Amino acid sequence: MEDVALQLKALLFPAIADIAVRSVDVDVEKVRLDAQCTTAGAACPGCGVCSTRVHSSYLRFLADVPSAGRSVVLQVRVRRFRCGNTKCPRRTFVEQISGLTRRHGQRTERLRSILTAVGLALAGRAGARHRQCLRVLVLDREGKAEPPALPEEKTDSPWRSERFANRVRARHATVHALLEAGHSRRSIGRQLQMTHRTVKSLADAAKPEDLFRGQWQHNRTSILDEYKPYLDERWDEGCTNAWKLWEEIVPLGYRGSYGRVSAYLREKRTSPRPVTAQPPAPRAVTRWILSRPETLTEIEQLRLKAVLANCPELDALTGHVRSFAHMLTERQGERLPQWLDAVRQDDLPSLHTLAAGIDRDCDAVIAGLTLPWNSGVVEGHVNRIKMLKRQMFGRAGFDLLRKRVLPA
Ligand SMILES: [Zn+2]
Repeated sequence: MEDVALQLKALLFPAIADIAVRSVDVDVEKVRLDAQCTTAGAACPGCGVCSTRVHSSYLRFLADVPSAGRSVVLQVRVRRFRCGNTKCPRRTFVEQISGLTRRHGQRTERLRSILTAVGLALAGRAGARHRQCLRVLVLDREGKAEPPALPEEKTDSPWRSERFANRVRARHATVHALLEAGHSRRSIGRQLQMTHRTVKSLADAAKPEDLFRGQWQHNRTSILDEYKPYLDERWDEGCTNAWKLWEEIVPLGYRGSYGRVSAYLREKRTSPRPVTAQPPAPRAVTRWILSRPETLTEIEQLRLKAVLANCPELDALTGHVRSFAHMLTERQGERLPQWLDAVRQDDLPSLHTLAAGIDRDCDAVIAGLTLPWNSGVVEGHVNRIKMLKRQMFGRAGFDLLRKRVLPA
């Protein structure tokens, strides 16, 4: 038995001298290590004088690094010693196991360093979410384990207005409370200033949810539902005339009103979804123009080609962007005046602004496009700091930002 305990100690706490493992309790989700400090006494943190006079002892539960998919809890019996030094302001102190515990700490030092590394790498909430994958059990104040985060529940109310729903819930509860207290429906109506019919409907409904019908429900079935796929299809084909579509679905068996069809189409008309195939987003086109042509996929190249065929201005712009990129990557600054002339010949006002800006500082730009030196390293650092700053938005405070910018 002694041997096993020694082996366990060597396995679990290779770097910590003064600890003995007393037992290991393995459960489906958790491993509980029962351990104890083996020194005879401890040094007072106030004056440094060693004391062996035990005052009392208690259990500490520390979260430790997880093992084989289970979270690990270290249960340590720690002793409180009396400080023998009469000049010391402390009367008693609690022992700490060096390299494993610290005052008020709820995690072992090795878990703390892992969490710090995760926090610095992922920043704030992303790190907290990642903690769940690490199966780290973090104890809260009462010493209970935090439950694993549940997937966010969507509030699934059958009603459109939550405020209205809450009011009805409250009224329903009041009426039922009064009924239970022995009041008659007539007296309830008088007290709450409700009509007899309102009291009756509230009293007859077992749950407030039963009171919601009709217009208050989200997913009411409509007589038009069956014909919606047909209407959608015709809409996508370009037929958006409600009267015409109504005339088309009547022979198919639709027995509802024209108004319903018209309301359905009005919704489609005001929704942001366009009628025909979506043109590519400006952002996507920008990326296609700014990327090296050989890195675009075949589909992207085809779509870019279609865009350029339909827009001579964009075609001209793409030519200028690519020749500038060539000049920049091949360091051919001497071609800049030629490029500027070419730009001025086209009717592209925003490029003209750029050209005017370059003209004001032409020598510097030519040098930048020709010489091997650049401010890339500085730009890289600036970029890194901006990236960190933006990653942190809404996640954690200035302290963590400072730590990530400085040491990480
Ligand atoms: Zn002391």
